[in-house]
Parts: sequence; structure tokens; C-alpha cells
Amino acid sequence: MAYPYLTPFKKNEHLNILLIIKQDATVKGDIYMTKEKEVKSEIHSFDEENVQSEEEDIIVNPDDIEKEKEKHQKEIKETHFDIPDDMKYYNRGNTVAINYETMGRFNIPYLLYFDDYTIDDVNNITLSRQDDILENLIAILNNRVNKDANIRVEDMLIEEFLETLIGIKMQFNTPLHKHMWVCSNCQSDFDDSDQQVNETEIDLRTLKYISIEEADVELRKYYKGIFDRMTSEEFKQWCNEKYQTDKVKTTISEEVAKISIGEPIKLYLNEHFYAFRFNRVGDIVKAHRIAQKKYSGRLKQVKNKRMHGKNLVEFKENKEEEIKKIREMQAKDTVLFSRALTLFSKDGVELNPNQCIEEYRNLPRVAMMEMINFFNKIKFGIQEEREFECTLCGNSERRSLQQEFNPIELLPLDTDSTRKLRKSPSVNIFIGA
Ligand SMILES: [Zn+2]
Repeated sequence: MAYPYLTPFKKNEHLNILLIIKQDATVKGDIYMTKEKEVKSEIHSFDEENVQSEEEDIIVNPDDIEKEKEKHQKEIKETHFDIPDDMKYYNRGNTVAINYETMGRFNIPYLLYFDDYTIDDVNNITLSRQDDILENLIAILNNRVNKDANIRVEDMLIEEFLETLIGIKMQFNTPLHKHMWVCSNCQSDFDDSDQQVNETEIDLRTLKYISIEEADVELRKYYKGIFDRMTSEEFKQWCNEKYQTDKVKTTISEEVAKISIGEPIKLYLNEHFYAFRFNRVGDIVKAHRIAQKKYSGRLKQVKNKRMHGKNLVEFKENKEEEIKKIREMQAKDTVLFSRALTLFSKDGVELNPNQCIEEYRNLPRVAMMEMINFFNKIKFGIQEEREFECTLCGNSERRSLQQEFNPIELLPLDTDSTRKLRKSPSVNIFIGA
């Protein structure tokens, strides 16, 4: 494929992925804005003309946006006044201060403070049903964050969530993290419950991070390459679709300069505009609940099956096999649903979770792959690969730590609880999803 993440001119499909840079990106990340306002500004920027003609009352005055932006930037400067910029995590008044790599660009500000978990919190997690762990953890963190932050942990990006857990662990527990992993060379043939787990120590102080601004630079290089390979006719067409008019005069370097990682990410496909955003931690919980609901009837049915034949062992085996299959389908759907929840509006109209899933499923496969690739292309947060050596077979593998970290392992639990809880499906799919 010539343009792996941005394929503007496939003759039959009319597929075009546009990364639109919102001028009011800082306003959108403003934690002081209400949810409702946020949606309005999204719609506003999404299709200004339509919004203005159809619904007078949801127009955001550009002057107001400017004012909000200034206010926000001022606030950021003030909070940052006495903060060492080069420190990612540090102790302040018995809390851990975390400087996020997303730099306030989404729903979470540059900096948050977290208290340590209480004994009750730890008990709560240890006693959680596997299906509820992630949700309970989010609720706990909502109580541990500085009260004036006015954020919801469920609105964190996956990367922000990991940085939070790592920060708390380093500050209050230990920077030496025992990472559990399963060798793909010698353990892949075993059932989950029979697999032997390796433990490798990782010093969390040595992790490498990439800020979203550094990721911007990489993305610009990438787009520059794509634009340079286009013919001038192709580039013109790309611009016409981006701006929805042929009246905008622009150059490659101007377009490259405008690129930074932001939301929404728009897909223009068959005369429709689809708007995507990054996955939030809350999406994972939501996706898990939807999948659970979808399969609960079928699971109950199988579990309640009465024996007809005479062979009890065979009957039990079949039943277990059926249950396993349903759980696998449920896990697959959870991944699909959490991806679907990155799609939040079509032609400027916000979608509810069921509509997201419906629309996402109906996207042509190639468009779906483009979006997945596009999200994979953007890298910020923990960015490091390490070599892990299996103590059982001696095989060594390179693995990405961002995808490897399991939130459960970062909690102050004893080894047995960690082993038990890390099998939670909602937590497993969360990694690298
Ligand atoms: Zn091995």
C-alpha cells in the first residue's frame, strides 16, 4: 500500500484519513470546561457551517474560545511556576506529583497529585470479582486524586492511566517492579491456568517516555514523506477533502506545520465524516460491560444444561468446552467494542455506544485497518522495548513495555493476589488494545 495510514485516493472506496488539527485544542483539553461545553466545541469545529445554520444555540463564540484558551494557558503557567520541568514524578506534601506526557492536550491536565492507596482500597481490589477490578480501580483513583483537579479517571487515556499507576507505585511502594510474563516460545501450547510465569525485575526509574510534542515531530516527518510522494494533483485533492472546498490555498510545508496529535481524528469515507478519538480507560470498562451483557444469556443457558446422555465426564467436558468458546467470543467482542468506542460521531452527530459499534462494524475492513494502523503509528507515553529472557527455555524476546504492563501488577498486592487478578479479561485486553 502506497500510503499505509493515509490513503486519500483509492478509486473505488474514496477513502481518506485526515488528521485535522483543531485550533482550539487546548480549550478542549481544558479541565474547567463542562462535558456539555466540550461536546459543543467539538460540534462547532466539526462542521461550523451546518451547526450555525441549524442550531443557533450551540454555537461557541470564537472570542469566548480565545478567552478560555488564554485563561487556561495562564492557569497552566501558574501551576507550572514552581515545578521542575525535567522531573516526571516527584513527592509533594505526601502526594506523588505526575507530569503527564500528554501535556494537557486531552481531558487530563499537565499535572495531577495522587495520595497513596488506603488499606481499604487494597482490600477492595483483592476482594474484587475479576470482572470488576478495572472499574473498582478507577473508582479508587478518583478518590486519591487532588480534589480541585475536577477530573474523572475514566477520561484518562490508557497511557495516562499507566503513568498514574507507575507514579503511585514508585512513590509509595517501590521503584523495583516485578514484571510477570509468559514466554511465547515454551508456554504457548498450555492452557492459561497451566502456563508458567516468568518474573523479571524492572527499575521503574529507568523507564523512557516520549512526550506528545516529541510524537508530533515524528508524525510531521511521517506526513511530510507521504505528501512528498503525492503528485501535485493528489495533494490538491487531499486538501480539497480536508477543507471541503477547493478555495483554500495551501502548501505542503504549511500542511505539515499544522500537524499535531489532537482530537478529533477524522475519516472521510463515501461522503461521510467519521470522527474518532483516542481510547479512554472508561471505554474499556464500557466495552467489557456491553460484551458481558451480550453473552450472559448464552452462558447461563449452557451452565444450566441438564445431562441427557449417560457419560457424565463427557457431558462435563463438552459443557466446559462450550463455556470456554463463549468466553473467547466475548473477549474478542470486548476488543472490537473498545475499538468501536473510539468512533464518537458521524457527520457531526454524536453516537451512543450501540451506534458506535454498529457504525464501526459497518466500516469497510480497509478503513477499519487504516484507523487501527493510524492509532498504532502515534506513539507517546512509555516508549521502550526490553529484552526478556525465559528462565525455563532460555529463549529471549524483545517486548514493548507499554504493551506489557498490566495495571494489576502495578498495585500493592501480594504475589498470589496479583497472579489471580491479572487473569481478568477486562484487564488483559486493556493492554495494547
Ligand atoms: Zn520459554
